[in-house]
Amino acid sequence: MLATTWLSQGGFIFETGGVRIVVDPYMGDTVERQHGVTRIVSFPLALTDLKPDVLFCTHDHLDHLEPDTVVAIAATYPRCQLVGPLSCHSHFLKLGLPADRCREVHVGGSFDCGQATLTPVPAFHSDPAAVGLVLSVGASKLYLSADTTYSDALINEWTTGSDALLICINGRLGNMNGDEALRIVSALRPHLALPMHYGLFEENTADPEPFIQGCRARGVESFAMPLGTPFPILPAAQ
Ligand SMILES: [Zn+2]
Repeated sequence: MLATTWLSQGGFIFETGGVRIVVDPYMGDTVERQHGVTRIVSFPLALTDLKPDVLFCTHDHLDHLEPDTVVAIAATYPRCQLVGPLSCHSHFLKLGLPADRCREVHVGGSFDCGQATLTPVPAFHSDPAAVGLVLSVGASKLYLSADTTYSDALINEWTTGSDALLICINGRLGNMNGDEALRIVSALRPHLALPMHYGLFEENTADPEPFIQGCRARGVESFAMPLGTPFPILPAAQ
């Protein structure tokens, strides 16, 4: 079983077999301070609630790799591994985080994390090193798109056969909109597809409802995720 907790925007906790993988947590207000956009929801958990074994950043943008958040997590959890593609790995080292805890990953380079296998997969974003993520637990597979524009290349050897999808729908700043996300749903035909990357910034959000209805029209379960409350995502309902 894989449980997930949405942390707003593209941030999640995945937990299986007692191992916790925290992806792209944005806890502070750096984007607001540097770019003047307005944060409309608070981070739903306290730092002490995160308890990560692995921190995974999908790309080096402030709403996914926030320096204050990463440094606080690394300091609070000295055994937590700090994982990401080239751009994130370089940023971890620039922040002075211990090199022996920082790990660079590449598309297709799977690694084990407790009962889950994590595989970075292609994403197409303004950070050219950006990746999505496939988490496999037993025979089940979850695909997290992370930030990406639409591309037929999102349908590939790693994402094909996904049982559940977490997919960006905000349609701005290098990300798919809901209609494009539905094309991925139609191609992959998961059991469950959940919209993400909305609702954090007033200037960069989207209504998830058309995507949710579009999934249901295709016979795919969908709903608006709660913030900060874990729910089982794999195995998805058959
Ligand atoms: Zn983003």
